[in-house]
Amino acid sequence: MDLKGKNCLVTGGSRGIGKSIALTLSKLGANVAITYSRSADAANEVVKDMEGNGVKGMALQADATDFSKAEEVVSTVVEKWGSLEVLVNNAGITQDNLILRMSEENWDAVITTNLKSVFNYSKAVTKPMMRARGGSIINIGSVVGISGNAGQSNYSASKAGLIGFTKSFAKELSSRNIRANVVAPGYILTEMTEKLDEKVLNAIKQETPLGRAGEPEEVSNVVAFLASDLSSYITGEVIRVDGGMAM
Ligand code: NDP
Repeated sequence: MDLKGKNCLVTGGSRGIGKSIALTLSKLGANVAITYSRSADAANEVVKDMEGNGVKGMALQADATDFSKAEEVVSTVVEKWGSLEVLVNNAGITQDNLILRMSEENWDAVITTNLKSVFNYSKAVTKPMMRARGGSIINIGSVVGISGNAGQSNYSASKAGLIGFTKSFAKELSSRNIRANVVAPGYILTEMTEKLDEKVLNAIKQETPLGRAGEPEEVSNVVAFLASDLSSYITGEVIRVDGGMAM
């Protein structure tokens, strides 16, 4: 797979799956800009590692919930690198609780970070991608956006919303050769899932036909395919990377 000549933007690229996506895209020859909210040191390390792959890297501090900041980030990338061909909406959080105990703050924080952010960045890249006569947007969903999950009504709603958004976006922008797809991971080993207790983790593994958790690279390989021209006839699709969990 070859991504040479593509300029990419990955939101939340300082840690976990986003970091893995940024490194994978850069290994395949793409220039990659990442955003982060708090982890400046980690983000700068990712940039160094990407530059070690012989491509351009950039880290920008930007809260993904901030609508005008998204436009600023996209403008910066386009001004510096000339174009933007790939957007990966990866930034996301969990604030789990049963509905009886879930606060309005829990609901708003997760919906705004995981769903509004996708609107913010997808809207911001639309014009540059139209100018580039094409582009690929990859939104990181979750299997719980397909199946639901007790204790994650806010998170599941955000990820289900992301699927509806992606399909609508794909229908609106296909005539401009802009594709949009969802990658829906199951249980992947990152700091986000470190928070889960042993019992929950074991139950998840038992429910997974492949019998194990996934690695971030197993998600980023699929993202790289969707970013590449090898997937040129795929749009509006949801690809699960979940060891068969939501089959
Ligand atoms: P991590 O918690 O390991 O990393 C989250 C990343 O998102 C960090 O880079 C963080 O930046 C960034 N981020 C969080 N909030 C914001 C914000 N407001 N603005 C900008 N950046 C932000 O999570 P994962 O890598 O596990 O998850 C990445 C994506 O994958 C999420 O969308 C998640 O929902 C999804 N996913 C994960 C699964 C898993 O099992 N791990 C399963 C299914 C989906 P900073 O370092 O600055 O805080």
